[in-house]
Amino acid sequence: MEPDYQAVLEQVAEDIAPQIGHGRPAEYIPALSSVDPRRFGMALADVHGQVYGVGDWQEPFSTQSITKVFTLALALARGGDSLWQRVGREPSGNPFNSLVQLEYENGIPRNPFINAGALVVTDRLHGLTGDARGALLDFLRTESGNDRLDFAPEVAESEAGHGDRNAALGYFMASCGNMHNPVPTVLDHYFWQCSIEMSCADLALAGGFLARHGVRADGTRLLTRSEAKQVNAVMLTCGTYDAAGEFAYRVGLPGKSGVGGGVLAVLPGRATLCVYSPGLDARGNSVVGVAALDRFTTLTGLSVF
Ligand code: GLN
Repeated sequence: MEPDYQAVLEQVAEDIAPQIGHGRPAEYIPALSSVDPRRFGMALADVHGQVYGVGDWQEPFSTQSITKVFTLALALARGGDSLWQRVGREPSGNPFNSLVQLEYENGIPRNPFINAGALVVTDRLHGLTGDARGALLDFLRTESGNDRLDFAPEVAESEAGHGDRNAALGYFMASCGNMHNPVPTVLDHYFWQCSIEMSCADLALAGGFLARHGVRADGTRLLTRSEAKQVNAVMLTCGTYDAAGEFAYRVGLPGKSGVGGGVLAVLPGRATLCVYSPGLDARGNSVVGVAALDRFTTLTGLSVF
């Protein structure tokens, strides 16, 4: 028996209301720093594509690092698991934009969800498709059923203008032979990828293949069942950076956050959830987003454990 998801979401919204406004929007990307920290939305899409939502669940926001899940899935689907020779799948225990491990580990990033790893994945997807950001946008439009999804040029440009750290990661990896396209090209596709704006409903629907064990919205297969398990596992262990242990402890679901304030989470076999609230904690995860997912799994008893 499925719970009454709409009623659960309404209860979650009520329970987390006192926390709304906590945390601070990302300040290192100027275009993101001016969003209203009091925004809150949450959506759930079941595996049949039925969507439930509360608050600002239909408001588009900056997806940022949540896109890393989708580029990873596309790179695996099109290029297979040789990707794992260029990027690991262990939690880093360091901030998402940290440089420190890369030199010790010869330019092989710890996992695909920290920035260095995501740059490798975008580089790989670009090599496979000739247009990494375009392939990503097409996929997101198709899976969400929303043709109006688009990049936000002002966010991409804002990030590019303040992108020295990502550039440092890219050039360092290039010096180790782990960038196959020119670094400026990879950075450009990465910044545009991160700028895509989607609502909680769009993201919950687009991530549906993760709950359907690799099967897309139209019933065709993107990933094998085993690959879908692997992506979910990496989300659980690495999707919220150096807070992945705490996220697993509190929420108990594979999840992926972005500094725009979104968090995508997967209930394998049942549903995908997305929460949006722009106030971030010190590790770059949405304070209210994590609290809402914690409340959801606590109220329903649904988690992977
Ligand atoms: N575009 C952001 C960056 O590269 C994404 C980081 C994030 O969402 N954690 O810094």
